[in-house]
Amino acid sequence: MMLLLIPLLTACESSAPETLSVTAMDTAMFLSVYGGGADTCARIRERTQELDRCLSALDENSEIYQLNHSGIAALSDDALALIQRSLTLCRELDGSFDITVYPAVSAWGFTTGEHRVPTQEELQEIARHVDYHAVAVDGNTVTLPDSFMLDLGAVAKGYLADESRKILNDAGARAAVLNLGGTICLYGSKPDGSSFKVGVADPVNPAAYFGTLSLGECVVATSGGYERYFELDGRRYIHILDPMTAAPVDNGVLSVTIVADEGMVADAYSTALFVMGAHDAAAYYRSHGGFEYILLTDDGTLYVSEGLDDRFTLGDGYDYTMQIIAKGS
Ligand code: AMP
Ligand code: MG
Repeated sequence: MMLLLIPLLTACESSAPETLSVTAMDTAMFLSVYGGGADTCARIRERTQELDRCLSALDENSEIYQLNHSGIAALSDDALALIQRSLTLCRELDGSFDITVYPAVSAWGFTTGEHRVPTQEELQEIARHVDYHAVAVDGNTVTLPDSFMLDLGAVAKGYLADESRKILNDAGARAAVLNLGGTICLYGSKPDGSSFKVGVADPVNPAAYFGTLSLGECVVATSGGYERYFELDGRRYIHILDPMTAAPVDNGVLSVTIVADEGMVADAYSTALFVMGAHDAAAYYRSHGGFEYILLTDDGTLYVSEGLDDRFTLGDGYDYTMQIIAKGS
């Protein structure tokens, strides 16, 4: 699977990092840690695998599978923390991000790879079973109404980034670049004081990047239709769905990259701003805050929020029209 974001410069030149590759959460991950002791990468890998086992909607032994298939489950601290934070983000994002989207994701075949186009009637019926308000949390017990199911795929890597940061703190690491497959955790600072460089994948050719970001400690998450989709009769159906219609988003957005302090915010917002589209995403940025973003549309317009204006450099050969989104405009 293609990586969405490519950390370009992972070296803290003065010493070699500890590195490790992990395949989890349906993607390839690359960890580089500087100055944190010999087993820091291994501890992050263990945490990754633990979260994967707990959160996968497809693994029959996972807590989320059991919740989805019995409608009620007593959950571990991890699953509970993730669901509770997600529900807050669903409210904050007014349902453009919705963790109950699983029945829709499944109806289009994105869970199994057996893709199909549901009928309008079917979609209307499914959309009635996509609504995060229906998730009830009482202590550590979570209850879902009939036909409701959770999909934490849009935030699991963001949560992993936040959990990995705790491990890096505990280990006393100096710096780290954790490429968690589309979500990148940048930690600490390089000894020479220079910023981390992150490439933003070109949606038309995801092995290349259309520009670079110079960043300090933060989490960077990208959502792109190119990451998972199928084509039928000349139409492309992508894996990011509008919870209102239960159908793939088709609003001209090609990718959204979010820069935020918290991994879950970066990850949830990248999915949500994709659903909102260019216009509503800009309005959301102006009225909220706490994050920065880059959004590319299929007419070649690149929207860059003002906090990234002097941190983003467009790559050679790309002639996108840049629009800076100012907070006060
Ligand atoms: P991401 O790549 O972080 O944008 O996450 C996309 C994944 O989250 C999809 O593959 C679905 O499993 C799920 N998903 C799709 N649409 C939504 C949505 N509107 N809200 C929450 N999760 C979604
Ligand atoms: Mg996301």
